[in-house]
Amino acid sequence: MKTYTIAIDGPAGAGKSTIARRLARELGYCYVDTGAIYRTVAYFFSLIGISPKDQDGVAKYIDELTVEMEYDEEGKQHMIMNTLDVTDDIRTPEISQGASLVSAHKVVRDMLLDMQRDVARKHNVIMDGRDIGTVVLPNATVKIFLTASAEVRAQRRCKELEAKGLPEKYEKVLKDIQQRDYQDSHRAIAPLKQARDAVLLDTSDLDIDGVVAAMMKIVREKIPE
Ligand code: C5P
Repeated sequence: MKTYTIAIDGPAGAGKSTIARRLARELGYCYVDTGAIYRTVAYFFSLIGISPKDQDGVAKYIDELTVEMEYDEEGKQHMIMNTLDVTDDIRTPEISQGASLVSAHKVVRDMLLDMQRDVARKHNVIMDGRDIGTVVLPNATVKIFLTASAEVRAQRRCKELEAKGLPEKYEKVLKDIQQRDYQDSHRAIAPLKQARDAVLLDTSDLDIDGVVAAMMKIVREKIPE
């Protein structure tokens, strides 16, 4: 069966997951949040007390980790770490930083590559991350690079955290975002960058409906109704 694949990449807080989830619902596609997979790896190493920077430690214990994705009736992606559902445990600022550090190691990226490609072989997918258009799905039907200024992204993240009852200072959130931007785009393997054939969309001055409409237009140019 031929499947359609939509790759959405961009820095932290650009709105990828909110938008991708909405688009997936409208198109009837499966949404794959690849950041959640790296977060699950980071969570595992934090539980066993290995620093996400410790390349040898990560390589030594990675075989003790199994990561699986499951979808519930509402289409929500659940992350399963060694049979444990950790979906709600991986959304902290510490795990965001840990994921950014642990994802730089080749053993980690190699382990997760097939898992991501496998879903796209079987389903129409919208996959978001940092290297989807460049590495995971280089032949994706549609590629979009979603960005916004670091300040706008930090403001959005602050609102999200506040809504969850976990408020953080704007300055700290901005610094975390800038640090992740730097780490994600300067690593040697699969760095965050726009694929040559991706459409760039800056969402700084758009609300969610505006971004969804702009993305749908880009999608419809490549995938007819
Ligand atoms: O998208 P999210 O903020 O949940 O991703 C957490 C971290 O996982 C990112 O900062 C990035 O370092 C890493 N990541 C990655 N490749 C992807 C998705 C996420 O390296 N495809």
